[in-house]
Formats: sequence, C-alpha cells, structure tokens
Amino acid sequence: MSSNQPYIRLNDNTMMPQFGLGVWKTPAAETDSIVRHAVAAGYLAVDTAAIYRNEEGVGAALAEHPDIHLTTKVWNDDQGYDTTLHAFDTSMQKLRRETLDLYLIHWPRPTEGKFVDTWKALVKLRRDGRVRSIGVSNFRAEDIDRITEATGVAPSVNQIELHPRFQQHALRAYNEKHDIRTESWSPLGQGKILEEPVITAIARKHGKTPAQVIIRWHLDNGLIVIPKSAMPKRIDENIAVFDFHLDAPDLKQIAGLDCADGRIGPDPSIF
Ligand code: NAD
Repeated sequence: MSSNQPYIRLNDNTMMPQFGLGVWKTPAAETDSIVRHAVAAGYLAVDTAAIYRNEEGVGAALAEHPDIHLTTKVWNDDQGYDTTLHAFDTSMQKLRRETLDLYLIHWPRPTEGKFVDTWKALVKLRRDGRVRSIGVSNFRAEDIDRITEATGVAPSVNQIELHPRFQQHALRAYNEKHDIRTESWSPLGQGKILEEPVITAIARKHGKTPAQVIIRWHLDNGLIVIPKSAMPKRIDENIAVFDFHLDAPDLKQIAGLDCADGRIGPDPSIF
C-alpha cells in the first residue's frame, strides 16, 4: 500500500514522504486512534505542532512506528534560543522520540524579532543529532534571507498556506531557487474548495473525489502535502491518490483558480 508513495529529497540529503497526515484541530483524546488508523491505512508521515496540543496522542500512536516521518513545530511563545531548546525537549517527551525527523519554526513573528535566535537553536539541535531536518513555516523570502545570512544554514522546508485558491507562485519560486522544499498547509483550503465546479468536473472525469483531485494537484506540482481529516473514511479516501495523474488540461484549469486574495489563514507579516 505504501510502496508506491513518493519521497522528496531535502537539501540536507534526507528523504521525506511527499504525503502525510495533518492533525491541526484533531481532538487530543482522539488523536491516538486517528493516527493509528492513518498508519494502518498506509500513511508514512504525520504533521503536528506544540500548539495543536495533541503531541501525546501522536507519540502514543507512533510508539511502535519509529519509521513514520514526524514533524512538529516550536510555537510563537517559545521563540528565542534557550526557550526553543526547552520547548523541543517538552515536545520530544510527549512524542516519545529519541530523534525527530523535522522541526519547524511555526511562524516568523517578524515584529518580535526572535526568529534568528530561534533558528540558531534549531541549527544546534540538528548539529547535536536530535533532529534530522530543520525548517520554517509561514516564512517570507526576506525572513529566510535573514536566517540564512545569520547562520549559513538554509531551511530544508518552508511549510506555507497553499491550495488551488492561493497558489503562492512567487514564494514557491523563491523556495525552489534556494533548494528549499515547499510544503502545503491547508492543502484542501480547509474543505472550502471541494465544491468548486472546476474541481468537481475533473473529479468526475477521473472517477475520483474532489479531495483526491486537489491532493493529486499538490503531488503533481512537486509539493509536500499533509491533508487533515479526523474521519477514518476520509483518511482512507485521501491516501487513495497514487493510481492516477492529472493531465495538462486539468492542471491548466486548476491554475486558473488562483486568487491574489485567496488566503484563508493569517498573513505572516502581521500574525
Ligand atoms: P485541510 O486543507 O487539510 O482541510 C481539512 C478539512 O477538509 C477537514 O477538516 C474536513 O473538513 C475537510 N476534508 C478533509 N478530507 C476530506 C474529504 N476526503 N472529503 C471531504 N472533506 C474533507 O486543512 P488544515 O487542517 O488546515 O491543513 C492541513 C494540515 O496542515 C493541518 O492539519 C496542519 O498539520 C497543517 N497546518 C499548518 C499550519 C501552519 O501554520 N504551519 C496552518 C494550518 C494547517
């Protein structure tokens, strides 16, 4: 089931599954069983964060699966060098991992001016072998320039809001130029774009569901994608995307859905 899933090579030479489960808003009490279901269904990666308050459930579900790629993130309140190192230890205890696969700075918070020190802590954690890959989330090009100039270490991943309504061409081009992989958060537009006529028509054509078409769009664009569902049936549906491809006319039509103001989540410049 999992053998046909693609991996992406990061700039630190590690391999990351291109598809995984997001668990934002997955209730803490249900996270263990939901993540167990996803692993049984063939999921190879899980994306959580300290602020999701469900790291314990993820850790419990993955206790016997050290091979599942695991991402967590340092929350805004813990930014700064020492506070980040401490937050990492707290997360790792909850996640029951010796080594983390990917640690991200959740938001840049540019007005607070702590993300360079936070990044230095991530660089140390990687140097110490506690995390295999380090990256950022919601970083703008100028934020990435600053951490790279300060440390000589570029992030491996930039996880950003990205879906057919908000395609982020400029930031994707920047990431690509700097050998940083782009990971799409809210890849389904939080479920709000599943009834889009362009998407439903393409879904009918391929005998697939709208969610499957959108996930396939991310994969066919070389993006890492982490759709969220807490429903077993949808978790199964969302992974059944490795037996078809979108064609050139499909991709062209979906390209036309991009909107300058298509953002659903907060603007990283001010959040
Ligand atoms: P998403 O775009 O993955 O949409 C999830 C919602 O879509 C579900 O709650 C459900 O309502 C619907 N859905 C999912 N599968 C469906 C299906 N097969 N059929 C019908 N409806 C379906 O939204 P998300 O949770 O915001 O994003 C995914 C993950 O990205 C998160 O869980 C989290 O891990 C990550 N994320 C990161 C940040 C960040 O700041 N770094 C922000 C938001 C999300």
